[in-house]
Amino acid sequence: MKTHAIRIHQTGGPEAMVWEEIAVAAPAAAEVVIRHTAIGLNYIDVYHRSGLYPAPLPFTPGLEGAGVVEAVGAAVTEFKPGDRVAYANPPLGAYAQIRVMPADRLVKIPDGVSDTQAAAMMLQGMTAQYLLRRTYKVQPGDTILIHAAAGGVGLLVCQWAKHLGATVIGTVGSEDKAELARKHGCDHPILYKSEDFVAKLREITNGEGVPVVYDSVGKDTFLKSLDCLRPLGMMVSFGQSSGKVEPLDTGLLAAKGSLFLTRPSLMAYTAKRADLVNSATELFQVVAKGAVRVEINQTYPLKDAVQAHRDLEARKTTGSTVLLP
Ligand code: NDP
Repeated sequence: MKTHAIRIHQTGGPEAMVWEEIAVAAPAAAEVVIRHTAIGLNYIDVYHRSGLYPAPLPFTPGLEGAGVVEAVGAAVTEFKPGDRVAYANPPLGAYAQIRVMPADRLVKIPDGVSDTQAAAMMLQGMTAQYLLRRTYKVQPGDTILIHAAAGGVGLLVCQWAKHLGATVIGTVGSEDKAELARKHGCDHPILYKSEDFVAKLREITNGEGVPVVYDSVGKDTFLKSLDCLRPLGMMVSFGQSSGKVEPLDTGLLAAKGSLFLTRPSLMAYTAKRADLVNSATELFQVVAKGAVRVEINQTYPLKDAVQAHRDLEARKTTGSTVLLP
């Protein structure tokens, strides 16, 4: 069987991605063949494409998709042809019309959730789940800081944190993004390009600081984020949209109030099948009850992934983005 896919032969800028026809391997015993109906775009795709996160060349990028099962390997019992499924895990290879995936990395999409919604929310939504419910357990009455609050993960975190009873402070790159974040539960959007977000946060919290900062911007915000924490607060450094965080002298954590620092990844939080299923189930539940809305603010044909990456890196996107095969 053949399929069209985005391929990377040399890492680099968006133009490193080319649209090609490739062969689809027959599924091994524990694998499933999926015909994608929607593919999720995530910032991690940029890291793979640029070479920041190395992958063996050539490769098909993408970690998130939804679609219909076409065929299953001999040992697969949980899924059958015709099932609607979604995933947000390695192995890479989501930017394709058809792909093979290990069955134990899939979940069924519940009724009431469309394939497009599933492809848009699985990776960013399960990230919001582990950040808010497992890395630092947000409690009613907490005030939290989330950077890039109008982004894919950002809008989901704002809504979910609000639902948990938190006050949400969020940084954003423009007035429009501030408005969007506000509509999604961000009580205090801060324009971090023009405002000093540390001073602003200290003002909002009466000088106290916050118990947790969720920082996916990295290089540009990391050190200032530490200054937003109250003593014994937790710095959750979970991304690097502005570049890699500089090496850190751990003495700084003591000097700034015995802070905790973690650099989590969704892979570790969903490595066990039970964790993957629990995380996806909790996500689908908050979406089903309307506490969290998935905002698909951009869609592109999969073959135009180059433009999608350009827009993501230029900070032109908000909410989630889906690629259509
Ligand atoms: P976003 O939709 O949040 O897009 C990135 C946003 O980051 C931009 O829109 C922009 O918002 C902000 N940003 C700040 N500085 C820059 C810069 N120099 N270049 C580009 N963007 C910048 O993407 P995602 O929701 O897909 O991912 C958000 C982050 O979370 C990423 O860093 C990603 O790697 C990380 N992540 C980590 C996971 C983990 O498990 N560790 C899992 C999922 C995501 P603004 O204009 O408002 O500043």
